Amino acid sequence: MAVAHTELSNIDNRQILSALDDWLNDIKPLVKHFDHNDEYPSEIVLQMKELGLFCLMYPVEYGGMGMNASSYAKVITRLSETWMSLAGIINTHMMLGQLILRFGTDEQKKQFLGRLARAELHGVLCLTEPDAGTDLQGIKTTAVSDGNDYIINGSKMWITNGLHGSLYALLTKTNPRANPAHKGMTMFLAERGEGFNVDGKISKLGYRGLESVALSFDDYRISRDRILGGEEGFGFKHAVGGLELGRINVAARGVGLAKAALDHAVDYSKIRTTFGKPICEHQSIQIKLADMATRVEAARLLVEQAAEKYDKGERCDMEAGMAKLFASEAALENSTESMRVHGGYGYSKEYEVERFFRDSPLLCIGEGTNEIQKILIAKQTIERSKLG
Ligand SMILES: Cc1cc2nc3c(=O)[nH]c(=O)nc-3n(C[C@H](O)[C@H](O)[C@H](O)COP(=O)(O)OP(=O)(O)OC[C@H]3O[C@@H](n4cnc5c(N)ncnc54)[C@H](O)[C@@H]3O)c2cc1C
Repeated sequence: MAVAHTELSNIDNRQILSALDDWLNDIKPLVKHFDHNDEYPSEIVLQMKELGLFCLMYPVEYGGMGMNASSYAKVITRLSETWMSLAGIINTHMMLGQLILRFGTDEQKKQFLGRLARAELHGVLCLTEPDAGTDLQGIKTTAVSDGNDYIINGSKMWITNGLHGSLYALLTKTNPRANPAHKGMTMFLAERGEGFNVDGKISKLGYRGLESVALSFDDYRISRDRILGGEEGFGFKHAVGGLELGRINVAARGVGLAKAALDHAVDYSKIRTTFGKPICEHQSIQIKLADMATRVEAARLLVEQAAEKYDKGERCDMEAGMAKLFASEAALENSTESMRVHGGYGYSKEYEVERFFRDSPLLCIGEGTNEIQKILIAKQTIERSKLG
């Protein structure tokens, strides 16, 4: 372990990144094993908790580090340069904390934020269902009032950390006939109990080691005081309220993956020789490296811009959307190009570039697909131009 949690919380952000880099150097050689075997890295997660990575964005008053989005994005980029799944382990946890902080009742903040910051609880987000992802208003999971409780029935799909997590933000419909539909949606803070079933791990192309699961609810009973914010009807607002930060996070992962793909391509191009010289001296390889390096820097700047606005409390849905769109596509393109630079070896499981190639497409899907980002960016561009 590079530094203990208490030390980490006492040092500034530059030192945190440097301590993180030291720790990641120890983790790097282990990644291939967990990724190829799709094995949950329990020991690494334990170290992440000790290091303080679970409390980064939690306020100091609850035992967290009070880190802002700009610094958090840099941490996520660093983790993703080594292994994107490490970012996934803490991200739903951080998003749940932000949800409770922004929308929770005083009692919910008192009850959960300290335990989340100390990593006694692991946060999870349960929005998507087998028949509804982009169109969240189409979810079918119902919560029916029964005295002081609600009875929940339905299912969720693709839930990251669903097996190892312990506190779940669960989006439901309390009034399936509401018009518009979003007015009938309610978010609960759920813990596992009778009728809350983890139905199994989904086998995936990438983002391995970290589980994505299907959940089902079979007359699962939950108390009324677990409604996020205490009132029915605000679940959709809560779900979309976290999207700006979520998109900055995905974009930051994109920067990390795009950078890793570039670094591996550069290193390989210096040692692989063809026709008597290293391939980095062939102009066609240089053009690839130039495009890849430019994408990394452009993506990084877009993430910084969106995160700065978020930290100032300014509206940043368009900036976060642009960062997410550009950085995720950059990760995908750089992974493909890096594989080409590696030639046949890029297609083998021996080199890490094959993992980047498997991990990067997810970034174009999660936190609002890139098709949806384009719709949002176009709408905002038109709207803002009207304002002059
Ligand atoms: C590995 C992984 C982890 C995930 N983790 C979580 C998690 O922790 N919690 C959670 O709640 N969810 C999670 N998700 C779900 C993810 O958020 C959804 O997959 C995503 O929102 C897309 O929804 P969908 O898969 O239902 O696709 P759909 O909504 O069915 O979309 C299919 C296609 O149609 C396009 N499309 C849809 N509507 C429109 C439109 N109006 N205009 C133009 N194009 C459109 C989409 O862009 C896409 O190309 C995860 C997914 C994956 C793969």
